[in-house]
Amino acid sequence: MADPRGFLRNRDRELPARRPVPVRIMDWREVYEPHDEAVLRRQAGRCMDCGIPFCHNGCPLGNLIPEWNDLSWRGSWREAIDRLHATNNFPEVTGRLCPAPCESACVLGINQPPVTIKQVELSVIEKAFDSGWVTPQPPDRLTGRTVAVVGSGPAGLAAAQQLTRAGHTVAVYERADRIGGLLRYGIPEFKMEKSVLDRRLQQMAEEGTRFRPGTEIGAPGQVSGRELRDRYDAVVLAVGATRPRDLPVPGRELGGVLQAMDYLTPANRAALGENSDVELEQVVATGKDVVIIGGGDTGADCLGTALRQGARSVTQLEIMPRPADERPADQPWPTYPMVYRVSSAHEEGGERVYAVSTTEFVDDGTQQVCGLRLVEVELVNGRFEPVPGSERELPAQLVLLAMGFTGPEPGGLLEQLGLELDERGVVGRDERFMTSEPGVFVAGDAGRGQSLIVWAIAEGRACAAAVDEYLKGSTALPAPIRPTDRPLTV
Ligand SMILES: Cc1cc2nc3c(=O)[nH]c(=O)nc-3n(C[C@H](O)[C@H](O)[C@H](O)COP(=O)(O)OP(=O)(O)OC[C@H]3O[C@@H](n4cnc5c(N)ncnc54)[C@H](O)[C@@H]3O)c2cc1C
Ligand code: SF4
Repeated sequence: MADPRGFLRNRDRELPARRPVPVRIMDWREVYEPHDEAVLRRQAGRCMDCGIPFCHNGCPLGNLIPEWNDLSWRGSWREAIDRLHATNNFPEVTGRLCPAPCESACVLGINQPPVTIKQVELSVIEKAFDSGWVTPQPPDRLTGRTVAVVGSGPAGLAAAQQLTRAGHTVAVYERADRIGGLLRYGIPEFKMEKSVLDRRLQQMAEEGTRFRPGTEIGAPGQVSGRELRDRYDAVVLAVGATRPRDLPVPGRELGGVLQAMDYLTPANRAALGENSDVELEQVVATGKDVVIIGGGDTGADCLGTALRQGARSVTQLEIMPRPADERPADQPWPTYPMVYRVSSAHEEGGERVYAVSTTEFVDDGTQQVCGLRLVEVELVNGRFEPVPGSERELPAQLVLLAMGFTGPEPGGLLEQLGLELDERGVVGRDERFMTSEPGVFVAGDAGRGQSLIVWAIAEGRACAAAVDEYLKGSTALPAPIRPTDRPLTV
C-alpha cells in the first residue's frame, strides 16, 4: 500500500474539469480537460490496497486495480501500464466510457467517495501512448491456424488481438465501411474521439491482425456463413445485439420517428466529416423539438448530438420512476446501483421526464410527426398502469426511439450456420463459448445480450482462450469470465 493514510488525508474525489458547456456544444471534441498529474497521484494514493479488493469483483476483467493505483501514486507509469494491459486490451476505451462498476464496488465507497479508479486507468494509458510505450506485440511464431472474427466491436477486437498474439492468423470482417462496431459509429465523438480507436487499430494491424471492412458475411453476393466456416479453422461471431426494441403505437410509421441508431450513425459520420452525401441525407435536429424515448446511454448520446446540432428543445422520456440520488437500501454496496446519474450530455441541456409512457405519435397532416401523446404511469403489481387524467401532448418534429436492443439479427449468417436464437433472443453457446456448430464461437452482446463495453472486452478475451484451446488442445490465454457470469447483484 503506497500511502497508508492517503484515504484519511484526502477524503474527496477530484476529477478533471469538463470544458464549459457553451464552448463544448459548439464542437464534437471530447468534453474533458487533461488531468493534473499531482491531483491524479493524490487520488491514486487514496486506495487502501484492501485485503479483499472488491473493486476486482465489480470489474468483469478482473483488473489489478490496487496494483496500478499503487504504481500510479509512486509515478511508476511504465510498470502501471504493464499491469493495466495484463487484464484489459483497451483501457483507453473503458477509461473513457465505462460506467465503472469497480468504483461502485470499491471498499472506500462504504463510507467515503470511492477511489477515482477509472480516471487513474485513463491517465495511465494516455501517458503510455504519449510516451511511446504502446508498441505492437506480434507473436514469436505462427501456429498455422486461421480464425475469422465477424464483427469489429470491442468483443471482436479483443478476441482478435488475443488470438493474433497467440500466433493464429486472424481476419476481422465488418459490414460497416470502417472497423470499430459501436465504438466507431454508435458512440459520439464527444464521448470518445475516433483517433483513440484508430491508434489502437494501428497497433493491431502491425501485430498482424487483418481487417476486412465493408464485408457483410451472409449477405447476398458476399461470403456466406458456411463458406467462412469452411475457409477458417475457427470462427468467432461478435456481431453485437443490433436489433432495436420498437414502440408499436399509432403513428409509428410517420416520418421523423426514427430508431436512435438510424439517427446517431449518420450524425456521427457527418461530425467526422466522412461523407458529404451522408450530411445531405441525414435527419438533423436543427431547429426542432426533439423527444427521445428511453433514458439509457443511447438516449444520452442522442441528447448530446441533438444539442450540438442546434435543436430547439430536447426532452428525454423514461417509463421508470426517477431513481434516488443515493444508493437505495435494496441495492447495497458492492452492487452497481440504479441512482440518478448526470452524464456530460445531461449537463448540457434538455429535460428529463420520468414515469411516462407514449401512447401515440401525432401526424401534421403530411405524414410527418408533429407531436407525441403521453400519459403518466405508476407501477401496480409489477405492471405500468396509466394515471387517469394525466394525458398530455408534447411538440416533436423529431422522435428518437432509444429503448434498448433485443439481440442479434436473425437470418443471414446465423441461419446459414444453422444457429438459432435461444429464449433470451441471443445466440446459444456452451461453457466454452461454442455454439451448436463445432468450431463456431460467439462473444459479446450477440451471446450475452445488450451489455457494456467492459463485458464485451471480457467476453472477447475469454472466448479467445476457448478458441485457442480448441485449436491447440491447451491455452495460456486468460479467461476472465464464463459465458454465464453476470454483474454483482443481491
Ligand atoms: C449508442 C450507444 C452508446 C453506448 N454507450 C456505451 C457506453 O458509454 N459505455 C458502455 O460500456 N457501453 C455502451 N454501449 C454498449 C456497448 O457499445 C456494447 O455493449 C458493445 O459495443 C458491444 O460490443 P460487441 O463487440 O458485442 O458488439 P458491437 O459493438 O455492436 O459490434 C458488432 C459489429 O458486428 C457487425 N456485424 C454484424 N453482423 C455482421 C455480419 N454479418 N458481417 C460483418 N459484420 C457484422 C456490426 O456492424 C457491428 O459493427 C452503448 C451502446 C449504444 C448503442
Ligand atoms: S476496493 Fe477501492 S480501496 Fe480497496 S483496493 Fe480496490 S480501489 Fe483500492
